[in-house]
Amino acid sequence: MSKQTHAFQAEVAQLLHLVTHSLYSNPEIFLRELISNASDACDKLRFEALNNTALYEDAPELQVRLAFDTAAKTLTITDNGVGMTAQEAIDHLGTIAKSGTKDFMSKLSGDQKSDAQLIGQFGVGFYSGFIVAEKITVETRRAGAQAEEGVRWISGGTGDFEVETLTRAERGTSVILHLREDALQYANSWKLKEIVGKYADHISLPILMEQEEWQDGELIDPNDEKGGRQPGAMVKTGEWETINKASALWTRPKKDITADQYADFYKQISRDFEAPLTWTHNRVEGSTEYTQLLYIPSKAPQDLWNRDKKAGIKLYVKRVFIMDEAEALMPSYLRFVKGVVDSADLPLNVSRELLQESRDVKAIREGNTRRVLSMLEDLAKHDKAPDAGAEGVTDVLSDEDKAKLGQYTQFYAEFGAVLKEGLGEDFGNRERLSKLLRFASTASDTVGVGFADYKARMKEGQDAIYYITADTLAAAKNSPQLEVFKKKGIEVLLMTDRVDEWALNFVHEFDGTPLQSVAKGAFDLGKLQDEEEKKAAETAAESFKPVLAKLKEALKDKAEDVRVTSRLVDSPACLVVTDDGMSMQLARMLKQAGQQAPEVKPVLEVNPEHALVKKLDGSVHFHDLAHILFDQALLAEGGLPDDPAAYVKRVNALLS
Ligand code: ADP
Repeated sequence: MSKQTHAFQAEVAQLLHLVTHSLYSNPEIFLRELISNASDACDKLRFEALNNTALYEDAPELQVRLAFDTAAKTLTITDNGVGMTAQEAIDHLGTIAKSGTKDFMSKLSGDQKSDAQLIGQFGVGFYSGFIVAEKITVETRRAGAQAEEGVRWISGGTGDFEVETLTRAERGTSVILHLREDALQYANSWKLKEIVGKYADHISLPILMEQEEWQDGELIDPNDEKGGRQPGAMVKTGEWETINKASALWTRPKKDITADQYADFYKQISRDFEAPLTWTHNRVEGSTEYTQLLYIPSKAPQDLWNRDKKAGIKLYVKRVFIMDEAEALMPSYLRFVKGVVDSADLPLNVSRELLQESRDVKAIREGNTRRVLSMLEDLAKHDKAPDAGAEGVTDVLSDEDKAKLGQYTQFYAEFGAVLKEGLGEDFGNRERLSKLLRFASTASDTVGVGFADYKARMKEGQDAIYYITADTLAAAKNSPQLEVFKKKGIEVLLMTDRVDEWALNFVHEFDGTPLQSVAKGAFDLGKLQDEEEKKAAETAAESFKPVLAKLKEALKDKAEDVRVTSRLVDSPACLVVTDDGMSMQLARMLKQAGQQAPEVKPVLEVNPEHALVKKLDGSVHFHDLAHILFDQALLAEGGLPDDPAAYVKRVNALLS
């Protein structure tokens, strides 16, 4: 075949124009794209050779070679993969077949700036070579074809390309980039090693580069050692070295990977100095195929609370690195998870936008979520030794289970609060998530009581899970609302995380038992109160009616209502809100955060048995006492009186 000129398909010409005329935000990705093509070509050969080993000719070791020539200003990427026939070169390098690239083209707006941004997000495969090259020569021969059936493809990246036949002994493809003046830095071994380390370390194929060594320049005067030398230079040695790790850890079978290797890999990808708490590694098959290697760190990072923080998942497609922080692969409430997902289905040039829309990605995200939750469930199950406390029980545990003791507690201390965001975010997994929640309680100062533990300890006749939210554990423990629960020995969960109140909006019951805040709604212990107590309460309320009416009048600006309660034992009064009302604590939090919070008018509940309350009837200080009762109740649950100075004055007046 003598030299032929072909026009590029219109879309290719358009794409090339963009590649060469737009400021490219991330030029080095050309190497990733070309190495990935080379790696694909080797994969294809491997596949075809399954039925025809002759295709390997006499070189079964598949590899990619990088070579640069500073004098000629070229960078060459050579693979000994499947190669191309002349027709294949014309078809594949002159048209756009990939749906991803077509999709990309359809998104172009014509505005150079935004298109340039778009192109930075997409890879554009082979054509990205023109980011750094003013001309590309491709020399290739199909595996199994004669040496004379090789083809040379040349283009300056404008409207057309030329093809001619070529004699090429080796099968496979060389892509020769004639570098632009502003891209000469890529003809440099350090630069190439750096890019390969970043994008192609985990390509299983070895990437080779010729070794270089420093050579002093010639003596200026051959007879005078001290007379100086010509400038020295790096000189190629003829030895080829592998410059990538050529092994993707996650592609190896689990049984061949040690715990240390897993931990080292974690440190490498997370930049964490500490070993991970735990990890999961699976190859998922089915309608979407991918490998997941997911780690839970031991410690929370500084910026965990930043909800804009990107997920810690690196996305690979067929072992080629695509992007860091692929947030679409993990829900936001699991943003602390680090790891790698390697998909067999996604296109290489997938962008963040496409990730959001892809059904494969959705399946991967769900798969990842399930895995992380099972990992956590497993830790939670083994957190405490069965029958902890009994002597010698740890001896019956396997070493693996022993290692898990206390791990969930550690995890929860670091990440529990983030996990709770999932209750509002991931409806499908709400039940699994609510089983993973842990709290302190009136029976345990440590945050380790799950709803299931609580239920197992519930009193005969108890039909709700009681809890209280407060700013601190001390405030929660000393809440007046807890008094009767303490007296009756009923456990109450103490919730002190800022997100608790919000998270509980999404959990109304656990395993059929409703959750009940002890600071919300009218007091009702149901069957836990005996008839006598109820009678006594009713009589007290009845005889207290006239005082109540006066209290309501005195506090009408502050309290929604005033009523008698039997939830108090030692305190004279407390504040509660209506069943569906926002708690005072949450309203305060919103206000502090500068957000709009509805005005919460609480209900004042008074203890008719308390000396101070008994004093009210007929007191000349009725008005002051009423306000003091209210303000103290507010103080007791962490609030501040509207007018602190007035409060102080009233107390002082009574004291003196
Ligand atoms: P993609 O690789 O995503 O399909 P490219 O534009 O990078 O898109 O390449 C187009 C086609 O050219 C490839 O699908 C492949 O058939 C062919 N090709 C590119 N590089 C090589 C190579 N090194 N060896 C063999 N074929 C190649």
